[in-house]
Amino acid sequence: MANNTWETLAAYGSETGTIEIQECRNKEGKEKYRRVITYMEDNHKKKEEAGSLEEVFKSLEGQDWLLYFPLYVNPKVKKILGARLLQQPFKTHAAYETWLQYCFQEEETNIVKLAGAVAASSKTVVLTGAGMSTESNLPDFRSKAGWWQKIDPKSIAVPEAVENNYSVFADFYGERIKALESTAPHAGHFILAEWEKSSLIHSVATQNVDGLHRKAGSRNVYELHGALDKVKCHRCGTETEIDNFLQKKPCASCSGRLRPGVVLFGEFLPEDAWNGALKNIEEADLVIVIGTSLEVYPVNQLPRMTDGRTIYVNAETESEHGSFDLLVKGKAKEVLEKVEVVLRNMSFY
Ligand code: NAD
Ligand code: ZN
Repeated sequence: MANNTWETLAAYGSETGTIEIQECRNKEGKEKYRRVITYMEDNHKKKEEAGSLEEVFKSLEGQDWLLYFPLYVNPKVKKILGARLLQQPFKTHAAYETWLQYCFQEEETNIVKLAGAVAASSKTVVLTGAGMSTESNLPDFRSKAGWWQKIDPKSIAVPEAVENNYSVFADFYGERIKALESTAPHAGHFILAEWEKSSLIHSVATQNVDGLHRKAGSRNVYELHGALDKVKCHRCGTETEIDNFLQKKPCASCSGRLRPGVVLFGEFLPEDAWNGALKNIEEADLVIVIGTSLEVYPVNQLPRMTDGRTIYVNAETESEHGSFDLLVKGKAKEVLEKVEVVLRNMSFY
């Protein structure tokens, strides 16, 4: 850049005029900044010198984003402006949407909003369902490739099956437990574990019984429907090794029948998991619901237990669940990977 040539870094406007943020480098390579305000009424220009880029951008804070439409954003400052934008609570305002598109052209705006919500929130709980695990090749229940197309849940995932149809019950769950041995968490599970470590999220509440959040390293996990790998006695509740169940051995304490520690239809949810999830969701200022049809009671009540914002991520549905603040259509792993990229680019951690 030639000396004393002012380069425009950003321009934005309203009905009354435009503002240009400009930079100039002198011989020693030192930057100067100024704001050039052009008043529409009489084309009068006012120039305000500023010592730093921070200072010159300070007019774009809080609600002021919504007063101006962006006209131009230089690639050099997209990251700075984008980071500031992500700190704002997301709003459904045309100007805000336009700013998002200017700062994050290559990203989908919903992904950016999700990233912004995570970055701005001080307590986030993620609630997951079977759709979180389909990309680890575990079928969900209700979609076309799901389990319940092959078997009637009311005949097998019920306490009566332990009592009256044990052989079929034990074979069905035995098969699911064995399938888990060759199943690994996907990148999305690892991203959630990483976010917990970096305090970007607080905890995960899950309806999944596959233990994949735990396997990926998440620590604050509420397994609302229990876990396949926690085998116990159906009669006395004593916990035991998985192998004893796979070999259809009786309980060592009471000779009762062994079963996986999952919640069967008609049973109560584990109290600790439920109370923990509920308390944290009540306290949360952001709840992100990923990969669940929200058909199963009482977990489907949890998203409305928060006063915070709510986001629904699902591969299939877009328009249902209108009570959510934001609907993001996409696969769990893909969405989380994209959000991760935005957060990393914005240096949030
Ligand atoms: P569900 O089968 O009712 O719904 C799954 C939802 O996930 C659907 O809305 C579907 O559109 C969506 N989905 C599928 N693949 C997705 C993906 N890759 N990314 C994002 N969304 C995706 O499951 P649910 O709501 O969790 O309720 C079912 C019950 O089934 C729960 O009680 C749970 O215990 C049990 N279940 C658990 C597992 C598991 O542990 N992996 C698997 C099947 C079922
Ligand atoms: Zn027992």
